[in-house]
Amino acid sequence: MAANDKTNDFEKIIELKNVSKSFDGKAVVKDLSLSIRRGQFVTLLGPSGCGKTTLLRMIAGFETPTSGEIYIGGVPMSSIPPYKRPVNTVFQKYALFPHLNVFKNIAFGLKLKRIADPTKPAKERYVTKQTVVDGKVRRERVKVSVEATRKLTKSEIADKVNRALKLVGLEDYGHRDVNSLSGGQQQRVAIARALVCEPKVLLLDEPLGALDLKMRKEMQIELKKMHEELGITFIFVTHDQEEALTMSDVVVVMNDGIIQQVAQPKKIYDEPQNAFVADFIGESNILTGIMEKDYTIRFLGKTLACVDKGFEKNERVDVIIRPEDIGISAGPGQGHFDGEVLTVVFKGTYYEMEVKAGDYEFTVQNQVEFQKGAAVSLTIAPDSIHIMKKLITINKFVGYVYDEETICFAEGDWEIPAQGFEKGDEVVVQIPFNAVELTDDEEDGVIGARVAQSVYKGTYYQVQVITDTYEDFYVDTADEWDMDDRVGIKIDPAKVLVDAYVAPEETADEEK
Ligand code: ATP
Repeated sequence: MAANDKTNDFEKIIELKNVSKSFDGKAVVKDLSLSIRRGQFVTLLGPSGCGKTTLLRMIAGFETPTSGEIYIGGVPMSSIPPYKRPVNTVFQKYALFPHLNVFKNIAFGLKLKRIADPTKPAKERYVTKQTVVDGKVRRERVKVSVEATRKLTKSEIADKVNRALKLVGLEDYGHRDVNSLSGGQQQRVAIARALVCEPKVLLLDEPLGALDLKMRKEMQIELKKMHEELGITFIFVTHDQEEALTMSDVVVVMNDGIIQQVAQPKKIYDEPQNAFVADFIGESNILTGIMEKDYTIRFLGKTLACVDKGFEKNERVDVIIRPEDIGISAGPGQGHFDGEVLTVVFKGTYYEMEVKAGDYEFTVQNQVEFQKGAAVSLTIAPDSIHIMKKLITINKFVGYVYDEETICFAEGDWEIPAQGFEKGDEVVVQIPFNAVELTDDEEDGVIGARVAQSVYKGTYYQVQVITDTYEDFYVDTADEWDMDDRVGIKIDPAKVLVDAYVAPEETADEEK
């Protein structure tokens, strides 16, 4: 290993390598790899149920990964119980001991703690050492030297508790009954209790979730200050975008058990990696477009200049435009898209307007107000158009029910139960990537296809195949397939979800 690598390894306090977690066969964290550097304030951000807490609990040792390994300080954690890990957790519900006062709540962990005692000689002990030689386990008794330890003295405990109380701004609260404190104060006690044992990493699971908005804002500032003073690593879980962006050095955006982007807050906001991140972080206009060629994008019937390149010719892409980046002026014919103002809301320092242009409703933010019903024109500069690859997480097809046991889509008659729909009903069929099987012999599949690409994802391949009628299927498979191989496609009907198809016009009608 190069010297540089060693430096990097030292800086990585936590490393997750291909970590997955399933509950009752359902994957909630999927093949996730992540490095966290020493001293960073890292936030795990994502919608409810995306696996943030599960990830944090695996780092803490309260959950065991189904596969993969977690390293803290370079040491694999699989056989290390939670109490021996150099981490401490603060939960959303503060879980203080109601019968102990503030001081005793914080001192609790310290009373159990033992530290090295250099005034006493090390003790010699025999332990069993196990080695594997030529496939055989060899055990031998070896003598080891164990340094002497002692409990903390009362005055040492008092010093540490008082320092922790000062850190969370509760110097004079030691004697107080915890039940007499406000929610914010109780959460400060919980943080002091976690910090007093001097963990290398503090894990915070939505610690501000139960506080009202004002208290939450105050505590955000306090926590950031504490992080700066202590210099230890904070891993913070939240589903609040603003909280993540204001507090963190690095934001890890997650969805559905998968990391979507890891970057500094500004980068996450300015250069979201895909439509999910753009939508989740702040408001965005997200449209589908066609990348006609480098620097040229077509959407809503118009061709505009953009600053992106490197896409396939005519590739379907997501087009992301922030509301504050859209210019708005009076009257038609001035900019790229003509429209009508549908709603106007004053947001304190700007007006937010919904503008209907063709079939799309843009959200536009501007300091100038345009009245409801006004004819306006929208202008979008090339560097305000963000182009992203389409994010596909499931195969989706529109088809129709042929009979109780057959659904037709992608030019195939598939043996999939109609799941309560009737003959002739139009349906949307959703097929997870792991429900698709590729066969060597094209004839063994329901339809044939060509392998377009295969990407190794650490433990499996994600293969994209294109049918003869240009439908894409994505497949998660243990097998490696070569580009342009002809294959057959089969589907596991048990994993397929069938929903009613709603035409886009009908959705728009319903919304009205
Ligand atoms: P939230 O912000 O709502 O807390 P989260 O992103 O932290 O969400 P997790 O709590 O990690 O999400 O949960 C991810 C998924 O795993 C959810 O569908 C949840 O129901 C499921 N889950 C979590 N713990 C268990 C468990 N012990 N047994 C079964 N399912 C679980």
